[in-house]
Amino acid sequence: MSVKKNIREFTLPELKEYFEAIGDKKFRAMQAYEWLWKKNARSFDDMSNLSLELRKKLAEEFELKPLTVDVTQHSSDGTLKSRFRTFDGHLIEGVIIPTEKRSTACVSSQIGCSLACKFCATGLMERKRNLHFDEIYDQVALLNEQSLKMHGTGLTNIVYMGMGEPLLNYKNVLKSIERITASDSMAMSPKRITVSTAGVAKMIRQLGDDKVRFNLALSLHAATDEKRNRIMAINETNNIAALIDALNYFYEQTKNDITLEYVLLNGENDSLEDAEDLVKVYRKIPTHLVNVIEYNSVAGIDFVKSGEDSTQIFTDYLAKHKVNVRVRRSRGKDIDAACGQLANKDKVA
Ligand code: SAH
Repeated sequence: MSVKKNIREFTLPELKEYFEAIGDKKFRAMQAYEWLWKKNARSFDDMSNLSLELRKKLAEEFELKPLTVDVTQHSSDGTLKSRFRTFDGHLIEGVIIPTEKRSTACVSSQIGCSLACKFCATGLMERKRNLHFDEIYDQVALLNEQSLKMHGTGLTNIVYMGMGEPLLNYKNVLKSIERITASDSMAMSPKRITVSTAGVAKMIRQLGDDKVRFNLALSLHAATDEKRNRIMAINETNNIAALIDALNYFYEQTKNDITLEYVLLNGENDSLEDAEDLVKVYRKIPTHLVNVIEYNSVAGIDFVKSGEDSTQIFTDYLAKHKVNVRVRRSRGKDIDAACGQLANKDKVA
């Protein structure tokens, strides 16, 4: 039994070599490559400028494991959530968030998540497996098509803030970004890509060593170890001091933007004392922005979002202490597309 190779593991020179070896023309390799990385072929049959015979041969030798759109839901605020099906039947979700100037895709990096942060819907699911780089790429390509169709413009930004912890699927996340930014593919600027992490210190340092060119967001959510341990178990092995060190290292190595994310949970992390702790942490990190996130309710989770008043008092305190703070209002709540709500819940009757 021969094991078929995934054709998307092949570089263009490797494909050319293969086509030559089977006695075909090199430019056919270029055509096949374009189908894979520019024209989003879902199968070898889609490659209509290749002969039937060649398509059959490719299908015999290689596999192409495409992601397909399962269901798409439209929010009243223009947010679009798509559920995708993997070749082996798993479901994952990706979102498009349109604003006046941007069309931002939020993509998943794992099927489920192993981290179990107390406030997050994905954390209630078990982690099934990592997404392969071509599956992450497919989400972006498919969301780009949807963005073009819906809004007349392709994606302008990508955030790895969907299901899963990107830094626990390091290689595939980096390879997907290599493809998204490659000139022979989508050619998106890495400056328009942000990877968000719950905080895996060792891998943040690795990003520095790898001199990546995309931006990083840290889901901080609490500014003392005692509080952070309570809501994010990952803090027990990656405490705030370790994260501060790692982020400084990342910044020294790359000079890329770092954003801190802080979801406001009523009575949990939204007091003035919490704001004071946050200012202290902010000053130790080479960051230019704290995104205060409105908490989105999740069935089965008891946290409640902070009220308007406490949100105002909290953010005013930050601003007064020279923290650049922005409040990120939720989008797509009516279809469970907002931050922390991605859990494959099917609302389609
Ligand atoms: N695992 C990565 C990627 C997920 S990003 C990370 O933790 O950064 C999703 C962002 O939404 C994270 O900042 C996450 O903490 C936040 N989030 C999770 N649940 C949420 C909820 N119910 N409401 C608002 N934000 C939430």
